[in-house]
Amino acid sequence: MIAPNFKKFENGLIPAIIQDSTTKTVLMLGYMNEEALTLTQKTKRITFFSRSKNRLWTKGESSGNYLKLVKVQLDCDQDALLILAAPTGPVCHRGSDTCWNEINQSNFGFLSALEHVIATRKTQEDTNTSYVNALFNKGINSIAQKVGEEAVEVIIEAKDTNNKLFLNESGDLLFHYLILLQAKGFSLKDVEAVLKSRQK
Ligand code: AMP
Ligand code: ZN
Ligand code: ZN
Ligand code: ZN
Repeated sequence: MIAPNFKKFENGLIPAIIQDSTTKTVLMLGYMNEEALTLTQKTKRITFFSRSKNRLWTKGESSGNYLKLVKVQLDCDQDALLILAAPTGPVCHRGSDTCWNEINQSNFGFLSALEHVIATRKTQEDTNTSYVNALFNKGINSIAQKVGEEAVEVIIEAKDTNNKLFLNESGDLLFHYLILLQAKGFSLKDVEAVLKSRQK
């Protein structure tokens, strides 16, 4: 059990950042007193001390959208909590997954950054300097064919024992697939939604 020294905090409240344990999206911020943290660790349902309600508040108590506790972690100087949780529904009372603008959440880390770079190349004027921009200008069929070629190269390298070549071709495939997705007006998020909808 994580047990910070609550006496150190103003009103005995420690800030707790809530992060989705699978997507790593930052979901919300709340405050916990000693009782709230103990209850959270005992019941596995995240409970805050609500400063506006002035009482213990189990997130989801009226909406049914609970936050299932996965892991509690104290920061370096023990004055803030990071809590990994599995939400059972939208976390924000406005109905969104997170209390922060979801546009700002980069769920795929570096791949999201790469998607952003590809998006800027799509609208770029100077075709001569950008390979990606030139590909966009050639059109969907050319991009799709490139994805096909890279897929074949992955197949060829998968049959070999050279891991370096296999990973290189995997990178080529993923890169060109990201371009194809954007040429069609989609992003990794859209594919993720399809995969998510297939779960159970
Ligand atoms: P809930 O705990 O989800 O049943 O929501 C109960 C009430 O708590 C809502 O009507 C809001 O006033 C408030 N609330 C719910 N979720 C949040 C949130 N993520 N941040 C701040 N307040 C919230
Ligand atoms: Zn700190
Ligand atoms: Zn909110
Ligand atoms: Zn290749």
